[in-house]
Amino acid sequence: MRLKDKIALITGAGSGIGRCSALRFASEGAHVVVADINLEAAAETAALIAQAGGEASAVACDVTDPASAEAMARQTLERHGRIDVLFNNAGISGVGALHEVEPDAWDRVISVNIRGTYLPSRAVLPSMMERRGGVVINMSSCIAEIGLARRASYAATKGAILALTKSMQVDYAPYGIRVNALLPGTILTPFVEKYLRESYSDPEEGLAGIRSRQLSGDLGRPEDVAEGALFLASDESKFMMGSPLYLDGGVVFGKNA
Ligand code: NAP
Repeated sequence: MRLKDKIALITGAGSGIGRCSALRFASEGAHVVVADINLEAAAETAALIAQAGGEASAVACDVTDPASAEAMARQTLERHGRIDVLFNNAGISGVGALHEVEPDAWDRVISVNIRGTYLPSRAVLPSMMERRGGVVINMSSCIAEIGLARRASYAATKGAILALTKSMQVDYAPYGIRVNALLPGTILTPFVEKYLRESYSDPEEGLAGIRSRQLSGDLGRPEDVAEGALFLASDESKFMMGSPLYLDGGVVFGKNA
């Protein structure tokens, strides 16, 4: 029970890594507040947690909307009195080299990924500061560290989130708050399945490309990232501050050829 009685708020937890992390956190004793822009998907995650014997509640939140982020934090604080862990997981993909990306598509990726990290943090941090404790986990990506073809807008956001994580850590360390980032490689979730469909006429070609940049022969699974998130959320990582945690099958630090 590594998160016994902790209140953990996870954005974008109606799908993929967020859903899997919500299930994992709950299995370790957390009450998980499952937030997603899609309330039905969030409710489904909360129901899966309840079926497994855990505790969860679902809340609709668009992380790009200040009122929505504030309402999510306020409701959680009213119901539970505190937020121990904020996992800023919600994010969307963006495909294309810079010159191929339309301004509206660019703005959308920047907004969901960066503003969507800023607004929930802004809504939750004052309560953590008051209690002088808490954990924030920001979802970056290994793309923050390496160049990958035709992912300009997405890479820009994930690099920004890594820089933001370091900056936040310096500002909130005096309040006993830890802020770290997850840097996954490619993880098979609905998000990546969509990317493969949109970017390749044959998704198998895309999968082969993903495998070729890893050292691991296995594809990343949401469970691999959920374990990392659990480590960052728990006291086991208490000496980890402002750091990136790589979960990428050897993409960043390995080389196959
Ligand atoms: P996913 O399966 O698409 O899940 C993301 C969830 O976030 C979806 O439920 C999505 O709802 C929700 N969401 C989208 N916009 C939102 C908004 N404005 N407010 C609140 N929720 C919103 O994606 P995933 O693969 O699990 O990715 C989760 C995070 O990990 C993202 O930040 C992603 O960048 C990051 N990441 C993923 C990978 C990977 O390979 N999968 C690698 C590195 C980092 P809808 O489905 O309704 O849009």
